[in-house]
Amino acid sequence: MQEKLMNVNQQNNNPDTSVQIAGAGPAGLAAAITLAQAGRRVVIHEAHAEVGYRFQGDLQGLENWSSEQDALEVLRDLGLATNFARVPCDHGIGFDAWGERYDLAGKKVLFYLVERGPGPRTLDTALLDQARSLGVNVRFNSRLDHVEGPAILATGPKTADAIAVGYHFDTDSENGFWVIYDDDIAPKGYAYLLIMNGHGTVKSCMFTGFKQEKLYVERTVEAFQRLVGLEMDNPRPHGGAGNFRIPERAASGGHPVVGEQAGFQDFLWGFGMRFALVSGVLAARSLLQGEDYDGLWRRELGPQLWNGQVNRAIFAALGNHGYRWILRRNQARHWDAHRVLHGLYQPWVFKRLLLPWARRQLHLRRKDASCDHVDCACVWCRHGGHRDAGAEAGCSS
Ligand SMILES: Cc1cc2nc3c(=O)[nH]c(=O)nc-3n(C[C@H](O)[C@H](O)[C@H](O)COP(=O)(O)OP(=O)(O)OC[C@H]3O[C@@H](n4cnc5c(N)ncnc54)[C@H](O)[C@@H]3O)c2cc1C
Repeated sequence: MQEKLMNVNQQNNNPDTSVQIAGAGPAGLAAAITLAQAGRRVVIHEAHAEVGYRFQGDLQGLENWSSEQDALEVLRDLGLATNFARVPCDHGIGFDAWGERYDLAGKKVLFYLVERGPGPRTLDTALLDQARSLGVNVRFNSRLDHVEGPAILATGPKTADAIAVGYHFDTDSENGFWVIYDDDIAPKGYAYLLIMNGHGTVKSCMFTGFKQEKLYVERTVEAFQRLVGLEMDNPRPHGGAGNFRIPERAASGGHPVVGEQAGFQDFLWGFGMRFALVSGVLAARSLLQGEDYDGLWRRELGPQLWNGQVNRAIFAALGNHGYRWILRRNQARHWDAHRVLHGLYQPWVFKRLLLPWARRQLHLRRKDASCDHVDCACVWCRHGGHRDAGAEAGCSS
């Protein structure tokens, strides 16, 4: 075993050996771009026929609150393309479970709305084009199940710790975002409506209650119809899963594991794209510089990960009255939403004291008492028999 790992390390550091990457999501593409920029030969294997298959025009937020530096500058500093379509969002509308409305406004951009999937100006296509322009060999319809030599594993989520389920649709409404905090429509999560350049997505993002996903999706659509007059042209069901974990070691068979395959995610709300991109770059650097990848991600991502665990446990304990209390307080004090979110995402020392409690809460929640596993048809269920459930786009509604 020890000998095998030493061989892997020797091959990793040999600049003439090409690096295999499993998965052409943001994590795998970021790793490929970083390696190719340093002159390494790279082959990416993507199981599906196109990039971003599981998202198909989904709208997502590239969050801009966790760092002082603007998210697009962060990407540029990492050497990654930013020539994808985006809408900077600095204000939106929130609602509590009683339908009370709150302004969510920041002096800085809260997040950049981007499109995901195989379309012409998506984040995935921009990264794919950049990788190809650097000479990366991208093989579609190529599922990598076994790998020899230097490799990075970036195959996305394996289990469902949270799901976001609803619809994509066409619309002539204005760009913007709307969010509802109500455990009766998005248990322990939030329901959201995003509109960008004639396309929209409306979803219930839930951290429990997966078995009742149809009910929560119905309630989400009904709530947005009632609160903001949502109208959907050509609605198409869409959903996906998120995998949240802090691994002991992010490696498999001596190969670095990146993005959601490693469990790197924003525990609080599932803003995982930045984790995927950064971890991909770090894994590539570890191969290029012969550095320990576990040391790199623990230093760069570790504080955000454990802070996310604490945030998640606190949020899950709040309930509808707690969400309302926070929204009212922010509104009454005219707090800047960007500053509030930035503060929330900082791993302040006092939060570390809450970590053992937070971990216990998350461990208990993993057992997901909301599913009794009787006659269970939910594709997300952890009770087994659903190989790769989280990696496939699919809405059972
Ligand atoms: C509905 C939904 C909404 C979301 N919204 C947001 C948001 O607003 N903001 C945000 O930051 N994040 C959001 N996320 C999370 C974000 O999409 C993920 O964190 C991010 O895509 C993870 O990137 P990844 O490269 O690790 O995995 P993926 O994007 O899943 O890519 C993995 C790739 O590997 C391929 N693959 C799998 N197995 C193999 C194999 N054996 N061989 C070869 N290829 C393989 C898959 O086909 C896939 O293309 C959302 C997720 C979902 C599901």
